[in-house]
Amino acid sequence: MEFSDYTAHALIEMLDRRDISAVELTKSVFDRIAEVEPDVHAYVTLTEELALAEAAAVDKRRAAGEALGPLAGLPVAVKDNMATKGVLTTCSSRILNNFIPVYNGTAVQKLYDAGIVMTGKTNLDEFAMGSSTETSYFGPTHNPWNIDTVPGGSSGGSAAAVAAGEAVMAVGSDTGGSIRQPASLCGVVGLKPTYGLVSRYGLFAFASSLDQIGPITKDVTDTALLLNVIAGHDERDSTSVPTDIPDYTKALTGDIKGLRVGVVKELMGEGIDVDIKAAVEASVRLLGGLGAEISEVSLPHSEYALSAYYLIAPAEASSNLARYDGVRFGHRTQDEVADMVEMYMKTRAEGFGDEVKRRIMLGTYALSAGYYDAYYGQAQKVRTLIARDFAAAFNQVDIIVSPTSPSVAFKMGAKVADPLQMYLSDVCTIPVNLAGLPGISVPCGLSGGLPIGLQMIGRAFDESTLLRTAHAFELAFGWHEKPNL
Ligand code: GLN
Repeated sequence: MEFSDYTAHALIEMLDRRDISAVELTKSVFDRIAEVEPDVHAYVTLTEELALAEAAAVDKRRAAGEALGPLAGLPVAVKDNMATKGVLTTCSSRILNNFIPVYNGTAVQKLYDAGIVMTGKTNLDEFAMGSSTETSYFGPTHNPWNIDTVPGGSSGGSAAAVAAGEAVMAVGSDTGGSIRQPASLCGVVGLKPTYGLVSRYGLFAFASSLDQIGPITKDVTDTALLLNVIAGHDERDSTSVPTDIPDYTKALTGDIKGLRVGVVKELMGEGIDVDIKAAVEASVRLLGGLGAEISEVSLPHSEYALSAYYLIAPAEASSNLARYDGVRFGHRTQDEVADMVEMYMKTRAEGFGDEVKRRIMLGTYALSAGYYDAYYGQAQKVRTLIARDFAAAFNQVDIIVSPTSPSVAFKMGAKVADPLQMYLSDVCTIPVNLAGLPGISVPCGLSGGLPIGLQMIGRAFDESTLLRTAHAFELAFGWHEKPNL
C-alpha cells in the first residue's frame, strides 16, 4: 500500500507519531501523480514546488513543537473554480486560461489555515456545467476505474484524484450534483453541505442560489474532518448562515438504532439501472439490520425538478457569467475590432465553450421580458413545491435515501451530443440542491466493475445525523474496493 492510499485520519495519526513526515507523504502523492496522471488527467494545474515548501514548513513547525492545524501536512486537491492566491484558476475555461487570483476563497483559506498542502487545481466541466468533466477546455478527466469511462462531473477531477490516490482529500462544488455524482462514479465519498453552511466567497459563481462547496474523500470520517474545517459563517458571503458548528467527527458513533429512514419512491423506478436499484435496496436492508426503521417516502414534485433546475441554474449563470468580458481579466480577443461591443462579442465567442453558451442562451431567454413569469417565475414556484415535499417527508423520517446516479460511469463521448441525456445524470441529486438540503454519496457496490453510490439526504444544517448514518452504513458495508490503476 502506498501512503497515498491511506485515509486522511490514518495519515494524521501517522504524521503525529512521526512514522512519516509531511514531505515524505507529499512526495509519495506526487510520485503517484507522475505514475497515473497521464491516464487520468485529474488536474489542470499541479503545484508541486509550493506543496513541498508547505510540507517542509509543517514538518519544521512539528519538530519545533508548535501547535498545528487539524489537517497539517495532508495533501489536498482543490477544484479549479475556487480562487487560490497566486495559483492559476481557470474554471476549465479558455476565458480564464490566464487568470491568477490575488486572494484565496474562504474555504481555501480555511484549508490553508488548517495546515493542508495543496497538490493543485483539479479539472471540471467548464464553469461546473456538466456531469462528465468532458467540457473542460483542457480536455477530459478519465475515471480511474476504467479510463474509457467518465469520472462524472463537474467535480470529476477532484473525485478522480481521490480515487486514484493523487490526493488524500479534495474539495469540489455542487450546484445540481457535482460533488455527489462524481463521488458515486469514482467510488469515493462526497458531501454537499446545506446551502449556507460553507462560504461561497471565492467560489466562481455558477448558480448562486444552489452552489455549495464540499468534501470529496475516501471515507465518511475524512468528510467530517474536512467539513469541520470549511464550515462556518463568513461575513463575505451574505448567504452564509451564522450557526454553531459542532465537531462532526463526534457524531460518528456507529449507532443508528431507531433512526427513521425513508426511501424515495419516485427515484427507485423508471430510468434507474437495475443493478443500482438492487444495490440501493440491499443497502436499505443493511440499514434496517442496524436498527433503522425503514419506510417509503414520496417526493411527488421531484419529476419536475430537472425542468425547474434547467431554468433556474442557467438564468443565474447567464447573469453571473456576464462579468467575463475580457476587460479587466481573462482572455480577450486578439482580432481587430471596431468597437467595444464587438470586442465583447468576439471575446465571449472565443472564450466560452458550447455548453456554457447553451446555458447562457437558455438563461437569458428564461429571464427575458414576456417570458420571465412563464419560465423563471414558474420554475421558482416548482422549487418551492419540491422544498415542501422534503419538509413533509422529514415529518415522517430522519434521513432520506435514493441512488446518487441513475447509472454507473458511462463511456467517454456517449452523451456529449445529447445534452438531455447528460442532464438526466442528475435526476436524483438536483432536488436536494433546489431544497437547499445536505446530501452525501457513499459507495454501496459495483456493477460491471464500476462503483455505485448511495445518496443520503438530511435535514437542513443536520449534517451530524447525515454523517452518523453514512458512517454507520460505511462500517457495516465495509467498502474496500479500489481502482486497479
Ligand atoms: N450536472 C449539473 C449541471 O450540469 C450539475 C452541475 C453542478 O452541480 N455544478 O448543471
